[in-house]
Amino acid sequence: MKNIYGVTLEELEQYFIDIGSKKFHANQLFQWLYEKRIHSYQEVTNIKKEVIERLEKDYSIEPLSIIKIQDDKDVSKYLFELSDKEHIEAVLMRQVYGNSICISSQVGCNMGCKFCESGRRKKVRNLETYEMVLQILMIEEILGERISHVVVMGIGEPFDNYDNLLKFFTIINHPKGLAIGARHITVSTCGLVPKIEEFSKFPLQINLAISLHAPTNEVRNQIMPINKVYPLEVLIPTIKKYLEATNRRITFEYILLKDINDTEKCANDLVKLVRGINCYINLIPYNETNNLEFMRSSTVQIMRFYDILKKNNVNVTIRKEFGSKISAACGQLRSKEEEI
Ligand code: SAH
Repeated sequence: MKNIYGVTLEELEQYFIDIGSKKFHANQLFQWLYEKRIHSYQEVTNIKKEVIERLEKDYSIEPLSIIKIQDDKDVSKYLFELSDKEHIEAVLMRQVYGNSICISSQVGCNMGCKFCESGRRKKVRNLETYEMVLQILMIEEILGERISHVVVMGIGEPFDNYDNLLKFFTIINHPKGLAIGARHITVSTCGLVPKIEEFSKFPLQINLAISLHAPTNEVRNQIMPINKVYPLEVLIPTIKKYLEATNRRITFEYILLKDINDTEKCANDLVKLVRGINCYINLIPYNETNNLEFMRSSTVQIMRFYDILKKNNVNVTIRKEFGSKISAACGQLRSKEEEI
């Protein structure tokens, strides 16, 4: 059975029409789901009993289970169990501008980035739209506070689950859904070129981030297998076209890995690569894991890298670190729990 949290308002209107009921019930139901936050259709008082009975047969209203929560002062991590017993995680960060959540988009991931914990487990399946929506709804309920910002940077490659992702954006952005402004939503991809092209036509102004992590094919090929499919001479022109079509700015994420991509030469190559692109670069101090061979760059090296970009007028920030103590980097909680 489908789950109600994966249905857009428009789809729900069509559903009520199809079952011979009233289109406006869709609005009413959205209000119950996303404003009043009901847990059972029995709580709905303004839709006829027969219609509710039909709804119960067609759409489940089951939540996910949260099986573990780890709190640190400004970050909490939630481990979810899905109905097929698979595990995913979401991280809540208390930022100065509000609550921001990092959600997962797949169970496992096929991209195989060498430094990333999530890819240690191959993709098992895509998350359904409702499983993405419920990560937000359930954490808001536990917190008793609104989540104002969403980043799709947890487990999985969101552009490898493209259709469900766009539906998720439509639901959380809708004024009658979670009403999260498109500019408060960011999706990160390791660089699936055809989907970046498609995404330039998506009407919502969602922020796009690219996991770049290297300024040349030589370095990128070592750490990101996707670069062999879509190398920089394909990726970069695609990004330029995306920027022309959308008039936006793009974020490049760049994890600093000791002696791999943190050298002065890399910094200078990066300056050349992004020249003329309306972007900013988010340098990410690598969150070390027990399982993998990569090391975090020293603070001195991070600052040296940062200074080279800055001196060359590249917009650059160093990501504020959340959650390294509680294994909150991509995929770490799940893999700790399952010990793989
Ligand atoms: N697959 C998408 C979405 C996942 S985003 C993508 O690649 O963009 C997850 C972000 O966290 C990526 O930028 C990823 O490179 C980064 N990341 C993964 N492991 C990390 C670690 N141990 N420390 C810091 N950042 C990490």
